[in-house]
Amino acid sequence: MKAVRLEATGKLYMREVEKPVPGPGDLLVRIEACGICGTDRHLFLGEFPSHPPVTLGHEFAGIIEAVGPEVTSFRSGMRVTGDPNIACGRCEECHNGRVNLCRNLQAIGIHRDGGFAEYVCMPQSQAFALPLELDPLHGAFCEPLACCLHAVDLANIRTGASVIVLGGGVIGLLTVQLARLAGATRILLVTRNADKRALAEKLGATATVDPSQADTISGITGDGGLLPGGADVVFECAGVPETMIQAPRLARRGGTAVILGIMPQGAKIEIEPFDLLFREVNLVSSFLNPFTHQRAADLIATGAIKVEPLISRRITLEQTPNAIANPAPGGEIRTLAIPAGQ
Ligand SMILES: [Zn+2]
Ligand SMILES: [Zn+2]
Repeated sequence: MKAVRLEATGKLYMREVEKPVPGPGDLLVRIEACGICGTDRHLFLGEFPSHPPVTLGHEFAGIIEAVGPEVTSFRSGMRVTGDPNIACGRCEECHNGRVNLCRNLQAIGIHRDGGFAEYVCMPQSQAFALPLELDPLHGAFCEPLACCLHAVDLANIRTGASVIVLGGGVIGLLTVQLARLAGATRILLVTRNADKRALAEKLGATATVDPSQADTISGITGDGGLLPGGADVVFECAGVPETMIQAPRLARRGGTAVILGIMPQGAKIEIEPFDLLFREVNLVSSFLNPFTHQRAADLIATGAIKVEPLISRRITLEQTPNAIANPAPGGEIRTLAIPAGQ
C-alpha cells in the first residue's frame, strides 16, 4: 500500500509499504481522509520530537476493513475516527486521570504509523464510531475538534461570556463554534486573512478584527473598543509569539487565557508577571484531547459543528509530502489527504 513516510528530519516521501495485519484488539481501517496539520510540518522540520521512520498523519477517519482477534465492539464496514493518542494507563499521570500527560504516550502518526496511507492499524480502544451517512471527509476533523473541546472545557465558559479567539486556522474556527455552543454571546476572532474573517463571521463570530490595521490590544480592550476591559476568555490558536504575548493582555481582570497554539520547542516570548499578577489573569495551557474524542465525534456526526467550509484542498497521497513541506498559502484552512484520490 501507499504511505507517506518521514524517514528523517526534512525527508518525507510516499513509499510502497506492506499493508498492516491487525493483531489482537486491532482494527485495520481504510483511510477516507487524513488532515494535514501544523504538527506534521513541525515534525517534518524537526521542530517537534519525531520518531522516524514512521508514517505521519494523526487526524484520520475511515472504514474498518478487517478486525483482529479479540475485537468486541467493532466490525468490518463500520466508519470510525481514530484518537491518535495512546496512553499507557499505568503511570502516575494516567492514574490521576491526566491521560494527555501520560509519560509513555504513544501517538499514531508520530510514534507509530499513521493515517497518510491507504490503511492504518490501530487499537480498538482508540476508535470511535461515526455514522455511515456522514460525509466521508468530515471524520478527519474529530481530532482537532477534540483538542479544541479540551481547551473550551478548561476555560469554563459561562453563558453570556465574552471570548476572543486569536488565529483563523482550523483550531481557531472550530473554537469559535464551540464557544458559541458553550454559551458565549460575544465572540471576537482576530486574524489577518480577510477570507478567514468572513468565514468566522458565518460560523459564529460576532465580530472580527484585522490585527494589521491598528494596535490590537488597545483597539479591542480600550475605551470604545469592541470589548472594553478585555474578554472573559481568550484562546491563543495561532502559535506565534505575537499572539502568545497578546493572549493574557486581552483577558479581562480575573479572566482566562488558554494556550492552544504550538510554538517550536525552545522558542521564547516575553511576558509581564506584574500584569498577570495584578489582574489575576488565569494562564492555562491545553494539550491534546483527554477524554474528549467521543464528544467531538458526536458534534461532527450531528452537524452541530460545521466542518465543510474548513476544507480548503483535497489532495492525493502523492501530493502529501510536498503539501507538508511547503507552508500553506495564507487563506488555506485545512488540506485533506484522500488516499482513494479526489
Ligand atoms: Zn493535528
Ligand atoms: Zn500513562
